[in-house]
Amino acid sequence: MNKFSVSDPSALSDAVHGGDRRALARTITLVENRASEYEAVMDALYPLTGNAWRIGLTGPPGAGKSTLAGRLIRWLLEQGQRVAYVAVDPTSPFSGGAILGDRIRIDSKAQDQVYIRSIATRGTLGGLSEQTEAVVDVIDAAGFDTILVESVGVGQAEIAIAQAVDSVVVVLVPESGDEIQTMKAGLLEVANIICVNKADRASADTLVATLQQAFSQVGADSDQTVPAIVQTVALDDGSVDELTAALSHQRDVLTDAGAWTQLREARFERRVRTLVTAAWAARFWTDERRDALERALSTMDVVDRMPYAVAHGILETGL
Ligand code: GDP
Repeated sequence: MNKFSVSDPSALSDAVHGGDRRALARTITLVENRASEYEAVMDALYPLTGNAWRIGLTGPPGAGKSTLAGRLIRWLLEQGQRVAYVAVDPTSPFSGGAILGDRIRIDSKAQDQVYIRSIATRGTLGGLSEQTEAVVDVIDAAGFDTILVESVGVGQAEIAIAQAVDSVVVVLVPESGDEIQTMKAGLLEVANIICVNKADRASADTLVATLQQAFSQVGADSDQTVPAIVQTVALDDGSVDELTAALSHQRDVLTDAGAWTQLREARFERRVRTLVTAAWAARFWTDERRDALERALSTMDVVDRMPYAVAHGILETGL
């Protein structure tokens, strides 16, 4: 029998925990495909998680996320950490881990200490953040100390991924000034660190000043934590010291006073709620209820349709 048989969740999770790369890759593929054995494997793995620091890296395409990730990976390796890097692509099933590896350029001596993978996500029960969290759990159980999660996408997807990690870095470029207003309501609110990359360009200081201004108001008006705002030049000869210092500080804050445990518990609760709600919604749409909706649509002119009345009618349709 194959020693990674998915019909034996505890053997598979033990192999992942023991550092077996094939078992790790296989389990992540199970998560991607939502194979039927997936839930039992995840339940066997979950108690083995909780050691890794999960950092989300988000921001517009071309901001320098992958270049920065390469620098951060090297920084973490220098501290003797084992590091994983996951690129979540909510749109394309074709992005390749190999291409990503080339871009990140890791010393071959460090290969054992680094794991790089891109994952495709599909419209799934519980959604993108649940699926991302599941993949990160698998990697956590495999004993990595820090997991960088880069999201390739915009808007909601990035916010969903932010919910799956401990610390969120939003990467912007000096030209991002105009986007700040529209971003403020969403992505920037979930940021622990805002990183203005490509600070070798003029106008980086202007963007930093704009951000500081925007957040001084937020800090004054509410208890909301104000993110650290840092500048970096991710190219090889540039400095990322402000970012690594802010991340070190983040890690200290998380380690203090059980903040890490609280985050983990909040995530667990949100995840169970999401799973229950999604499963319940899937169960709700019986043939009778689908028919009731079809009937409402086919018997009423669009101008006569009343959305709330139709919704209540369907809710009252018997099982
Ligand atoms: P991503 O799409 O956010 O992952 O961005 P990439 O890491 O692929 O970077 C996009 C381009 O910006 C690449 O050509 C990088 O070499 C370049 N780049 C990254 N960081 C910097 C920087 O700090 N300064 C400058 N001038 N270029 C950078």
